[in-house]
Amino acid sequence: MQSISPRVRALAVSQTLAMSQKSAELKAQGADVINLSVGEPDFNTPRHIKDAAIKAIEDNFSFYSPVPGYMSLRKAISDKLSRENRLSFAPEQIVVGNGAKHALCNVIMATVAPGDEVIIPTPAWVSYMEMVKLAEGTVVEIPTGLESDFKLSAEQLENAITPRTRAILLCSPSNPTGSVYSREELQAIVDVLARHEQVLVIADEIYEHIIYTGGDFVSLGSFAEIADRTVIINGVSKAYAMTGWRIGYCAAPVEIAKAVSKLQGQYTSGASSIAQKAAEAAYTGPQDCVEEMRKAFQRRRDLVVRLAREIPGLKVNEPQGAFYLLPEVSAFIGLSTPAGKKIENSGDLAMYLLEEALVATVDGNAFAAPGYIRLSYATSDENLTEAFRRISDALGKLK
Ligand code: PMP
Ligand code: GLU
Repeated sequence: MQSISPRVRALAVSQTLAMSQKSAELKAQGADVINLSVGEPDFNTPRHIKDAAIKAIEDNFSFYSPVPGYMSLRKAISDKLSRENRLSFAPEQIVVGNGAKHALCNVIMATVAPGDEVIIPTPAWVSYMEMVKLAEGTVVEIPTGLESDFKLSAEQLENAITPRTRAILLCSPSNPTGSVYSREELQAIVDVLARHEQVLVIADEIYEHIIYTGGDFVSLGSFAEIADRTVIINGVSKAYAMTGWRIGYCAAPVEIAKAVSKLQGQYTSGASSIAQKAAEAAYTGPQDCVEEMRKAFQRRRDLVVRLAREIPGLKVNEPQGAFYLLPEVSAFIGLSTPAGKKIENSGDLAMYLLEEALVATVDGNAFAAPGYIRLSYATSDENLTEAFRRISDALGKLK
């Protein structure tokens, strides 16, 4: 038996990826599973982006890329941040990594010291808490629920900040809740943060384009009070249907960008040269594909909210962004399956739905949201309609 380091032993397995893997295995065995577990666009990468990657191969972009990314890509990102988000980041402040996940982990590893507190409003994406643990920081969760549309209030934030607070991690539009903070709600949070200069603000804006508010997306980096200590995390996975290409970035104060680059130089080197050229085409090329996909997600959002609300006992908000639904399922906890097994928690319920309804979801516990399950609706209308029919049947059998 090999001994594994305490650092990695303490880490939880990524439940989004684990559930997706489990559903793929069941499918391979012939089971007709509908996978609503992992969150990734079901669209193919747009043609002009694929063409740019093919050209990059032909043009021999086959050598190591600079650690923080090609200058041409960092310029394209700098222009994008200025054009779309009215943010001013020089290319030197941008470090491209292997996906937004890697970019975020880089920033946490570069800024969080052992014992530093990192505030995470929950429900929150699975990897946030684990990344902070990896850096030996202390996670300070601020729980929110359906009643506040899962949004953190200024008062909750003020109460959570201590002299040890090093950073806050905010995600809007949110995975897993779909909530989107309005400009006014962000301003209230910024007013609190403005009083606590030691707090680094990490804004995960990977879902910025998948938004149904009818208004413009507001970046946390656009508030002058905190702009010089805000780090933006973003990437091409969600907006351009490029999850497998693995390109994301951080835009940060220059000392943090340098530290991230140093870390990345020892840890992974520059991201894939071909994928970087594809990402450059995504940022500089036509943007209609982004709007087309957004529209499809909005139609599906309407569909799943309607279907979920038809099921007695499921409680849902109306998500304003991303492509997740987080139903509250406490009405089913304590009931028994037809086989006589008691549903003790939301994890049991997710497992029951997988086995009985052949629908893969994720237990809310993975997102620090016990009593909820998460569904990704980034799949076809037919799949969604059939999945909800099965979920309704299976829940109806609980006694
Ligand atoms: N942040 C959030 C909130 C996400 O849902 C994801 C999706 N996996 C990521 C970051 C990371 O995206 P990627 O690594 O594919 O760029
Ligand atoms: N962000 C997606 C999800 O939450 C992808 C899986 C992952 O990286 O966790 O399902």
